[in-house]
Amino acid sequence: MKIVVDYDLCEANGVCVDLCEDVFVLSDDDELSIVAHEVTEARRAVLTEAARMCPRGALSLVETDPT
Ligand code: SF4
Repeated sequence: MKIVVDYDLCEANGVCVDLCEDVFVLSDDDELSIVAHEVTEARRAVLTEAARMCPRGALSLVETDPT
């Protein structure tokens, strides 16, 4: 499973960054980057919360092909 952002929806308000700074990073020119896409067990809860809290609905957890 991985976390993805829809850049057409993201408004770079930093809500996800506040929740998980080691996954989401805002650049100086307000561009969001995801620096760790993989949803590990340790991060599952916080990434699920980030997707739920994103005011733009821009974050999704998607299944990855196991092969
Ligand atoms: S919380 Fe949503 S809208 Fe805000 S920076 Fe993160 S992905 Fe973008």
